[in-house]
Amino acid sequence: MLKRIDLTRDYDKHKSEYMEAIEAVCRETAFSGGKYADRFDREFADYIGVKHASGVNNGTSALHLAMLTLGVGEGDEVIVPANTYVATAWGVSYTKATPVFADCTPDTWELDPEDTERKLTDKTKGIIGVHLYGQPFEFNKIKDIADRHGLFVVEDCAQAHGAVYEGRKVGSLGEMGCFSFYPGKNLYAFGEGGSVTSDNEKYIDKIEVYKNQGCRERYYHEVIGYNMRLEGLQGAVLSVGLKHLDEWTARRREIGRRYLKEITNPIFTMQSHPDNTDPVFHLFEVMVPDPEDFLKYMAEHDVECNRHYPAPCHLQQAYRHLGYKEGDCPNAERLATHCATLPLFPEMTDEEAGLVIRLCNGYNPAH
Ligand SMILES: *Cc1c(COP(=O)(O)O)cnc(C)c1O
Repeated sequence: MLKRIDLTRDYDKHKSEYMEAIEAVCRETAFSGGKYADRFDREFADYIGVKHASGVNNGTSALHLAMLTLGVGEGDEVIVPANTYVATAWGVSYTKATPVFADCTPDTWELDPEDTERKLTDKTKGIIGVHLYGQPFEFNKIKDIADRHGLFVVEDCAQAHGAVYEGRKVGSLGEMGCFSFYPGKNLYAFGEGGSVTSDNEKYIDKIEVYKNQGCRERYYHEVIGYNMRLEGLQGAVLSVGLKHLDEWTARRREIGRRYLKEITNPIFTMQSHPDNTDPVFHLFEVMVPDPEDFLKYMAEHDVECNRHYPAPCHLQQAYRHLGYKEGDCPNAERLATHCATLPLFPEMTDEEAGLVIRLCNGYNPAH
């Protein structure tokens, strides 16, 4: 069975590097925050091309702390795309503000600037754009709307480590970039991890205080804080991964571009990738009339596929109290109804990618 993603191949290949890094943390008992977490912060800031990065315990916390740092709270609204992993909206909700879901465009499947503008009210404080599937959203158009209305733009970069928008890496474009290092993300920890990136020292200073129990000086608490530090072990593992990220990304791009070119069966619709972006193919999503039938067909041929995401945020039960109904975000709903995710990870062989392509081209649901 070819899995949708297989992390064991990376572990097998780089085991001694990972183990050495873990051993060093254990020897120095630098477990919570500390030397290895700090070192990764510096390396990651350099990689993204920003002045600062602050490691946290996961991507959801990164988004939560970004909202707190920007002063989002009760009575405020923040625009969030309807098609994303739901955690994009959690941070807004944790502050008692309201996520307002905007549709995606029919071709890029990224946050639609026009619907974003339509959803603004006098309560809107900002916009969270998501570089979904590793494809940068149309930042300049979103930023232009934000500037005209005095709003912030935060980037959810959980799926887009290293993706490029007009020559700049995502995570360096908005007020802050929020990253996840959940296993399976393009850069991943051996457990949970996340980071907030920014050129603005004031923001990162607040993130550092919030994540560290509200302290700047130990045992003196300026604000009601959280325990959301990055673990030393994760920092050390992430430093190993970061060394390989460019090579992983190159391989993802190779496979992604092959799929785009060689899957020619017209039953599939694919995401478009505008020329001013260089995506990192976190998830290779296609739209197909009956995704469950397609998944079954692929499984019968020993290839695992899955779906991201079968239900859009605005129709989740968790957000039922907001009163959305079917038809409110039609492009996101169509995507949710028809999406299927093909296998794609850096260690896939050319033969395996070829098999996926052949099976896709041979798929005919009438049979
Ligand atoms: C994974 C993910 C998150 C959440 O990150 P965690 O580290 O799992 O908390 C948020 N947004 C998007 C788009 C994601 O893919």
